[in-house]
Amino acid sequence: MRSDPSEYHLISPANLNAALALLADQSGQWRPIAGGTDVMVLYGAGHLPHKNFVNIWNLAELRSIEEFHTEIQVGAAVTYTDIRNHPAIQQNFPMLATAASWTGGIANQNRGTLGGNIANASPAADSPPALLAYDADLLLTSIRGDRRIPYKTFHQAYKKTALAPDELIRAIALPKKFANHLHHARKVGARQAQAISKVSLAAVGQLAEGVIADVRLAVGSVAPIPLRLTRLETALLGNSTSSFPQADLRRLLAEEISPIDDMRSTSAYRSTVAANLIAEFLERLTNSGQISRSNLDSARSSPDLNSNPANEIAANFTASDATLHRWNALSPAAAAAAILPCCGSQAWAATMAAARPFADLPALLESSRQIWNHLPPTDWLEAFHSHPRIGESRAASSATAKSTAWSSQEQSQVAKSPEEVKQALAEGNRLYEQKFGRIFIVCATGKSSNEILQILRRRLQNEETVELHEAANQQQEITQLRLKKWLREGTTSVVP
Ligand SMILES: Cc1cc2nc3c(=O)[nH]c(=O)nc-3n(C[C@H](O)[C@H](O)[C@H](O)COP(=O)(O)OP(=O)(O)OC[C@H]3O[C@@H](n4cnc5c(N)ncnc54)[C@H](O)[C@@H]3O)c2cc1C
Repeated sequence: MRSDPSEYHLISPANLNAALALLADQSGQWRPIAGGTDVMVLYGAGHLPHKNFVNIWNLAELRSIEEFHTEIQVGAAVTYTDIRNHPAIQQNFPMLATAASWTGGIANQNRGTLGGNIANASPAADSPPALLAYDADLLLTSIRGDRRIPYKTFHQAYKKTALAPDELIRAIALPKKFANHLHHARKVGARQAQAISKVSLAAVGQLAEGVIADVRLAVGSVAPIPLRLTRLETALLGNSTSSFPQADLRRLLAEEISPIDDMRSTSAYRSTVAANLIAEFLERLTNSGQISRSNLDSARSSPDLNSNPANEIAANFTASDATLHRWNALSPAAAAAAILPCCGSQAWAATMAAARPFADLPALLESSRQIWNHLPPTDWLEAFHSHPRIGESRAASSATAKSTAWSSQEQSQVAKSPEEVKQALAEGNRLYEQKFGRIFIVCATGKSSNEILQILRRRLQNEETVELHEAANQQQEITQLRLKKWLREGTTSVVP
């Protein structure tokens, strides 16, 4: 039944204190409305439980993003568009910027607010996993005063939160302590954008001497509330990413989540995909031990070039900048041909060439990620088929000499593996191609043949859509490593 507009009241107070006074006056009678993107859906459906609304959309006290030495505070009424475009958020909290870009369409991002997303308390919302993984605090306010609570204590049960009826979320505080971590966010839905998630993951992690020194895992759509996987995190600490048994991962995860069957997905699918997403994060963490975007950034800004192992890489990148400069100056066709071996997709290479000039390696890597994510699967498949099968040396389709040489370096561990492992890989490749109709893609750099075999066996269980995206992510990893290598090697001319 449609709502009758005459039954509803909306007041727009001039400032925060006036809004708080109204919320306290007849506690429970007045409810806040910010962007209205959740409230108006309920209104349109005739399911809005309240009649009296306090408009907080225009309150200046809730609309700024402030950067402090140790944290960034995002006002509760800041929109997704503002979050996506804010340089300090992109730099320090890329998973929040990514979650903002996933949330609905552009119109929704111009109107929807972070505070509204939190207070609406949907277990499938996009920003909560990122906020949980980043150890956010909520700054709550009422006429009784202010309080600061860890966000992980805010959601208490399905749609039940720690917010008192007279309280507002004023801001979300994000500690700036993840500069040297890998940041990994994934959303699995019917589509990447404009779709409610079936499962989502936000994870940060850091390796020290080959073992997990710090990790935070947060998931959406697999429990009545967005969830930090604290028991699994504790179990992972001190282990190497590759040696942590898959069976333990899945068992510990199952103890913490409680997914349901609904119109979007099944409980079994959600459990499997959540475990796969975490396994994928751990694989990325293994590779990031070599270099992550964030330790590159900190190395570049560090005045002491000998204090950080990443500095050897930073020094190389200084030399790389000259190579990049030369590539920036090539004709579009020559630039596309020169960068092609890093990925294998002609469309990716042509779009990268068209996006020049790039100021530095981070800009090149970021652009590559974005271009890759926007390509259709046909272009992904072209890139996949420029690789030889794991355990083989020649690609099925034509590959550049440079790509073939890099493939053999990337697979150097596999080449040394015992005959029975090679045979198991060959059999795995055969089953994979039979099931998915394409070559198995994994970022093999730094992985032993046994690790690759485990990954192959796990991914054989995947459903097609999940597997296609996992393969595309692996290709993304390969491309990122190759771009770094390409610039370090200093060859921007076309290799025949
Ligand atoms: C077409 C469409 C697509 C969408 N897609 C997505 C998506 O992909 N992912 C996703 O996560 N969400 C999605 N949403 C949901 C919605 O856009 C978000 O939850 C949004 O962040 C809500 O913010 P708002 O300011 O519009 O909240 P409002 O609708 O104004 O308020 C929502 C609730 O929060 C309360 N509230 C608002 N601000 C505060 C505050 N500062 N303090 C205390 N309580 C407050 C309100 O009282 C209300 O109960 C979509 C919505 C639509 C209509």
